[in-house]
Formats: sequence, C-alpha cells, structure tokens
Amino acid sequence: MKNRMNELVERLNRYAKEYYELDRPSISDAEYDQLYRELVALEEAQPDAVLPNSPTHRVGGKILSGFEKYQHEYPLFSLQDAFSREELESFDARVRKEFPQATYICELKIDGLSISLTYENGHLVVGATRGDGSVGENITENLKRVQGIPLTLTRPETITVRGECYMPRASFARVNQQRQEAGESEFANPRNAAAGTLRQLDTGVVASRGLATFLYQVASPTTTDSQSHVLQHLDDLGFVTNHEYHFAQSMDDVWNFIEKIAAMREELPYDIDGVVIKVNDLAMQEELGFTVKAPRWAVAYKFPAEEKQAEILSVDWTVGRTGVVTPTANLSPVQLAGTTVSRATLHNVDYIAEKDIRIGDTVIVYKAGDIIPAVLRVVQDKRTDQEVMEIPQFCPSCGSQLLHYEDEVALRCINPICSAQIMSRLEHFASRDAMNIAGLGTSIVEKLFTAGLVKDVADIYRLEEADLLTVEGFQKKSAEKLYQAIQTSKGNSAERLLFGLGIRHVGSKASKILLEKFSNLENLAQAEMDEIASIDGLGQVIAKSLTTFFSSAGAQQLLVELKEAEVNLAYLGQVAVEGTILSGKTVVLTGKLERLKRSDAKAKLESLGANVAGSVSKKTDIVVAGTDAGSKLTKAQELGIEIQDEAWLESL
Ligand code: NAD
Repeated sequence: MKNRMNELVERLNRYAKEYYELDRPSISDAEYDQLYRELVALEEAQPDAVLPNSPTHRVGGKILSGFEKYQHEYPLFSLQDAFSREELESFDARVRKEFPQATYICELKIDGLSISLTYENGHLVVGATRGDGSVGENITENLKRVQGIPLTLTRPETITVRGECYMPRASFARVNQQRQEAGESEFANPRNAAAGTLRQLDTGVVASRGLATFLYQVASPTTTDSQSHVLQHLDDLGFVTNHEYHFAQSMDDVWNFIEKIAAMREELPYDIDGVVIKVNDLAMQEELGFTVKAPRWAVAYKFPAEEKQAEILSVDWTVGRTGVVTPTANLSPVQLAGTTVSRATLHNVDYIAEKDIRIGDTVIVYKAGDIIPAVLRVVQDKRTDQEVMEIPQFCPSCGSQLLHYEDEVALRCINPICSAQIMSRLEHFASRDAMNIAGLGTSIVEKLFTAGLVKDVADIYRLEEADLLTVEGFQKKSAEKLYQAIQTSKGNSAERLLFGLGIRHVGSKASKILLEKFSNLENLAQAEMDEIASIDGLGQVIAKSLTTFFSSAGAQQLLVELKEAEVNLAYLGQVAVEGTILSGKTVVLTGKLERLKRSDAKAKLESLGANVAGSVSKKTDIVVAGTDAGSKLTKAQELGIEIQDEAWLESL
C-alpha cells in the first residue's frame, strides 16, 4: 500500500508539472482524476502515512521563472470535484445539514486558467496567475493585452476579482493553423494554448492570440449578499461574466441543468469541463468555510472524458526535423467529442512497449485535454493473435539505420541528409519565430526540395524569382511575394538565424542570450565550450551542442555561404539599423499612444523602412495598438496579424 502511495505521489506530481508548468499533459484529465482519487482513498485509510509532498495538500503548480512572484492578499482555491449524481447528493447533504433552506447557483466550469485582478480606485494595478494559491506570477502586462479585461472600471472601486482566462475555440483554431503553417508545434488544446500564451514574455504575442475572460468572484471584502449579485456587480463594473448560469433549489434541478449543458457543450464557442455548483447565499458560504484546498460551499461536477473503442489498422512512422521518428496509428473511424477520429498518436516506441500496443488490437481512444486523440490502453479481452508490433529498423524516408538511445524514449534517424529531416528543417528555418519567411510552409518547401532547387538553408537565398516560376503552382505575383519575403529575412537580427538553424537544445530564448553575449554568429562559432556553459541561463548541454555543431565542416561552410548571400549575422538587439529593420513591412498605428506623438511614431517607423498605412487589410504586416484600440485591432486579430504595442515601438 505504501509503495502504491509513493508511486501515485510521484506520478501525480509529474503529471501536475506537465500540466501546470510545461502546458503539455501526457494523460487525460479523467485519468489524472482517477489516480488522484485512488491516492485520496489510500491517504484516508492510512492518515499517518501521508507523504509531505502529496498533491492532495497543494493547489495548482509551481511558480515559473520569467515573471515576478506575486503574493496574493486573498488566497485562491481549487474546487472539490464530483463525478456522479451520488457525489453531488452527498455534497448537498453536507450543505443541508447546516442550511436546510440553501439554494444553489450553477455556473459553467470554463476550461482555462484562474486569474486574479486587483484594481485601485478603478484602475488595474495587478493581474496574476493562481500559482500555488498563495503565490502566483505577476502577469499584469500580459493581462492588459487581453480584450475584455477593463483597464479602468466604470466606478473608482478598490477591489480584487477572480475569474477564468481562456482561449475561445475560434482563436484556438486560428492560432494552431498559423503554427502549423509556420512549422511550429501545435497546442494540444485551448487550455494549454491559453496557459502558454499568458506565459509569453512578448506582450504583442499575447495581444494577437485572442484570449478572453469570464469573471466570477470578488475576493476582497464585499457587501454583496449572494453569488448572483456578485455576477451582477462584476457586470456593472465592466467585466465580462458568463450568463449561462442557473438557479437550483434541489439536486434534481442541478442534474437537469447538467444534462442540458452536457448536450449543448459542443456548440459553445469555448471549452468547459463541467458545471460548478455554489451555495448562492454569501453569508452561508462564509459559515460553511473551507477545507485545506477548497471551499465547502461549492463543488465542481466534471464531465466524463469521452472514450471510444477503435481498431488499430496500421501505424505510420514519420520523421521530424530532429530525426525523431514518431508513430501514428490509423484507426477504424469513431465519433469522439463531436468529430470523427481516424488517427491517434502513439507518442514513441517506449509508449508502444509500455502499453503493449499491437496492430489489429482494439484500443481505447480519447482526446487528451479533449483535442488530440491518443491511445489510452489496449482492450485485452479483444486480443486474439495479434503479434508484437515490429519497430522499424530503418528510416521511412531515407532508409538509414535508426537508433534508439538508452536515455531517450524516441527512435532517431541520424542521417544528416535524410530528405524528410531536411524538409522539416527548412520549414523550421522559415517559421515565424525563426527567419519568418511568409509563404515558405510545408507544401512549398516540399516542391522546392523535390525540384532540386533548395537542399539547405543557404539555397533559399540563392533562389531567383525566375527559379520559383519554374515550380508548379507559382504565378508571377506569388513568386514575387516569396522572393521579397526571402530578401526581407536577410535583415533579421541574428538570433532568429541561430534559432532557425535548429541546433539541438538551442531554442529561441537561448539564441537571444547567446547573441547578446557574442554580438554575431561568427564570434559565437569560435567560442569555447566553457565560455558558453558559464553564461547565466545556459549550461553544459547547450554549450556542447553548439560547439559540436560549429566545429563541423558543414556548419562552417554554411556560415560562409550565408555571408556571401548577405544574410545578416549580427545581433541587432535594441539598436535598429536605419532603413532595414522594417523594410518592406506595412505597419498600421491604432489607438492612443501614451508617450509618443502619433507623427513621431510614424516618422520613426518610416525611418526604419516601414510603409505606414491607415487601414488594416490582409497586406498589413504589423499593427501597433495603443490604449483603447478599437475596430482596427479587432480586424487585425481576426486576420491573425502581428500586434505590437508602444513599448515595442520605443524599443526599436
Ligand atoms: P479544477 O480544475 O478541478 O477546479 C478549480 C478551478 O476551476 C478554479 O481554480 C477555476 O480556475 C476554475 N473555474 C472555472 N470556472 C469556474 C467557475 N464558474 N467558478 C469557480 N471556478 C471556476 O481544479 P484545479 O486545481 O485547477 O485543477 C485540478 C484539475 O486539473 C484536475 O482535476 C485535473 O482534471 C486537471 N489536471 C490534469 C492533469 C493532467 O495531467 N491531465 C494534471 C494536473 C491537473
């Protein structure tokens, strides 16, 4: 029993880290909840054996670096949950023991992140995440970029309010579409996308992602007498509240509402994962009080995760940019959470071995966090004579021998000239956070590669418009546009180039730190391993990866070729190079700028090569939004245009 307890604590803590800190859950919420309940039961049976690091005593996740910590004046809580009508009945019985006449208000359980907003005399002063309930992250600047969060209230109140920040399904679809086109990994679900967005260090990105909020609580002392009046009060102050709530006198009422919501869940423009039932009277709430983690006056009914059985028909193995070979199962089609599912990820070879998944097996599929289908387990009763799955020995793209390193779950192709890898490396090079070459996505890369025009990143800069016109699908205009985008990318600050090279362990943040230190790529290429490893925020792994890369003849040759093609190898940092940094970009200014005069802002943009336009269209590259920006900002968000703020403009 003790062993199982240890195992559960270890696993649940790992899953919580993946969920709260890395925004990358590896199991479904339903599975997590099931394991959590098993742990609660074991701890109840053996209270003396409860481990000090048990997740049952903590709220949420850890505080991440990158933002300042924020000590909440009023702590934030989790909610006790219920998965069946019986559990709701026992919640009701506990409440009615104290207050036989209690009535409930049922609210939708929005699947986003808790946020806390503090206003002084009506002005937003702090916006923070829940964190561990007592200490969160100060993300004020990011929350200011979320439409719907008022910067100023309709009345000069001093108040702390709580609610959920979420990504509407439409924004989620658009963001993932853009990420796919840019060759970036897609977010697993709207909740992860919202969490990842709020942790962005670039407020412009936050503004462009289309987050939204529903507020539902006043945390500071209030004279309001009921939860429904709290919602009314929040509405009056200018917050967005959710109007899909329902009053209930009994558990029959509550249950009817839950059934109604479950039936319309897929039609809502945002994700919900349940219904929160709260005692409506605030005086009763106060009497009922709290447990260590959650209020006694509320319960969250969680919808069961939809799981279906499907047969594994075959498995595709595909090679990514870093050579990792990923298995995807082709399934007999099933309806799951509103869509037809015919493919599911099997993650990696270790996952297949651990779950003993075989072709021809009937498996349980589910949507992890309700979006990406995954295989949960094999239905053993249905196994007949399926054979252990053959793991490929050779790369499905180039045919070279695959490796499975002992310390890795992945299978790898290490052939540097494997075409599948080359193509995804090229795509990565052109992606938004790297060289940002619009129009150089998956299908164009494949065409250019197949036509023999582009084999490595230096070839991109040798392309002429005439070459592009020889490729199927290119017209004069599209060739011109791509050619221009390629030329513009030559002026990028070199951290984009470094990130674009896709060197193992060297992400965009590390690239920036490296170039700040070494000023240009040539210096970095000469740097000693110890010198790199000693830089704050980096370390041995990155240093080794970089020095190995730059010591190869191929990398040295590449630098020479890029230089010959006049690709900028220097870090431009905060210092703009006159006339180049925004050359060819169309920029629109909207809203009120606090510090710069409109005419000065325009002059500055033009001096950096931008064309400043008056209205937003598909041709706009960047919108600089000041305060109270209106329809232009909305349009830019709809079109997925990069949005920046005044601070960005000043930093150029
Ligand atoms: P919770 O999601 O069970 O409920 C509490 C939260 O609900 C509040 O903090 C608030 O943010 C939110 N909420 C949404 N609408 C609300 C409303 N109308 N009124 C009040 N609150 C509302 O609790 P939690 O502590 O945030 O997370 C625990 C859950 O997270 C687990 O039960 C599990 O489902 C999931 N989880 C999953 C994994 C995984 O690996 N898949 C890991 C850890 C946690």
